Amino acid sequence: MISFNKPYFTGEEIVNFDLCIQSGHVSGNGPMTQRCQQHFSEHWGFTNCLLTSSGTDALEMAALLIGASAGDEVIVPSYTFVSSALAFARERADIVFIDSRSDHPGMDESAIEEQITSRTKAIVVVHYAGVACDMDKIMALANEHKVWVVEDAAQAIGATYKGKPLGSIGHVGCFSFHETKNIHCGEGGLLVVNDSRLVDRAKILWEKGTNRAEFFEGKASKYGWVDTGSSFLMSDITASLLLAQLSAFDRIQAQRIRLWNMYNNAFIEAGLDEHISLPLIPPYASNNAHNFYIIFPSKSIRDEAISKLKLNGYQAVFHYLALHRSEYYLANFEHRPDLPESVNYEEKLLRLPFHYQVELMDVNRIVTTIQSLFL
Ligand SMILES: *Cc1c(COP(=O)(O)O)cnc(C)c1O
Repeated sequence: MISFNKPYFTGEEIVNFDLCIQSGHVSGNGPMTQRCQQHFSEHWGFTNCLLTSSGTDALEMAALLIGASAGDEVIVPSYTFVSSALAFARERADIVFIDSRSDHPGMDESAIEEQITSRTKAIVVVHYAGVACDMDKIMALANEHKVWVVEDAAQAIGATYKGKPLGSIGHVGCFSFHETKNIHCGEGGLLVVNDSRLVDRAKILWEKGTNRAEFFEGKASKYGWVDTGSSFLMSDITASLLLAQLSAFDRIQAQRIRLWNMYNNAFIEAGLDEHISLPLIPPYASNNAHNFYIIFPSKSIRDEAISKLKLNGYQAVFHYLALHRSEYYLANFEHRPDLPESVNYEEKLLRLPFHYQVELMDVNRIVTTIQSLFL
C-alpha cells in the first residue's frame, strides 16, 4: 500500500540530534532554536519569529497576542483544519465562518467585508495547499476596518504572494512542521510576528508569561511572572531535527514540485481535466507543492475513487469536514451560515498520495484508475 503521507528524513537529523545532546542544551530557546530562527530570518525575512511546539500553538499564541476574547468576532474560513478556529474559540471569541471560492478551496475574499462588524477582531487567512489568498484585498479591508490579520500559513512554507513570502504579510503568521507538511520535525510550529507592537509581548507569552527571553538577551536584570502565556516553545531536541530539514529545503521542494507536475501533466494528458478540476494557482500565487488534490463532479464518484484506488494499493484521502457543520460549532455557537462551497469541497475533494516514494509509475496507475471511473 502506498500511503497518503510518508514523512521524509534527510539523514542529517540524527547528526544534529547528536550535536544537540552533546551541547547539553536540550530545552527550548537554545542554540538549535536560534539557528532555525536565524534561518527563517535569512531566507524568508521573518525577523521576529519564535519556534513553537505545533502550528496549533502558534495560532493559540496569535489569539492571545491580538487579545481575542468574549464579545469579539473572528472571521475564519469553514473549509480548514480545526485549529484555525479552535485557537480563537478557546479565548471565547465568536467564530464567524465564511465560504470558499468556487474556483479554489481557499477562502472567498469577496465574502469577508459583509461579515465585518464593530465587534470584528481579526480575519484568519488560511492559505489552503500553500496557495496564497489575495492578500492585497484582505490587508486593504483589514486596514480600513482596523482588524488584525492572522495568516494560517501552516501549509505555506516557501510559498509567496506577488513574490512576498506567505506568513510575512499579515500582522502575524503561523506555520506548522507537523509530519504531513513540506518540512517537519514530527510536531512543530512557528509564529512570525510582523507587527512591531506585538514583538515584546510575544516573547513573554512564549516563555510561560515570564520575561525570561529578555533576561537572556541582557535587556532585563531579573525575570519573573509578568503576563499570561504558556510553555509554547519548541525543545532544542526538536529544533535540531527541523534544522536538518531547513538545510535541505531546496532539495525537498524540487522533489515535491517534480511530483506535483507529474500529477498535473498526467491528468491533462489523459484528458481528465474535462471531468475533474485540477488545482488552480492564481497568477499572484506561487506553488509550494504542499499537496496534490483533485475535485470530482460528485461525492459518489469521489468515494468510488477512494475505494478503487485502495484496491489498487493507493491510499487517497479527503479532509476538512466543513467546520460550520461540526459537532462543537453547532453545540457552542448560534450562527447557522449557508456555505455551499465549503460543503462542496468536503464532499468532492480528494488528496492523492504525496511523498518522495511516489514515482511516475504510481502516478500513471492512479490516473488510469481515476480515468476508468469516467469510461
Ligand atoms: C496542519 C495545520 C494546522 C495545525 O498545525 P499542527 O502543527 O498540526 O498543530 C493548522 N492549520 C492548518 C491549515 C493546517 O494545515
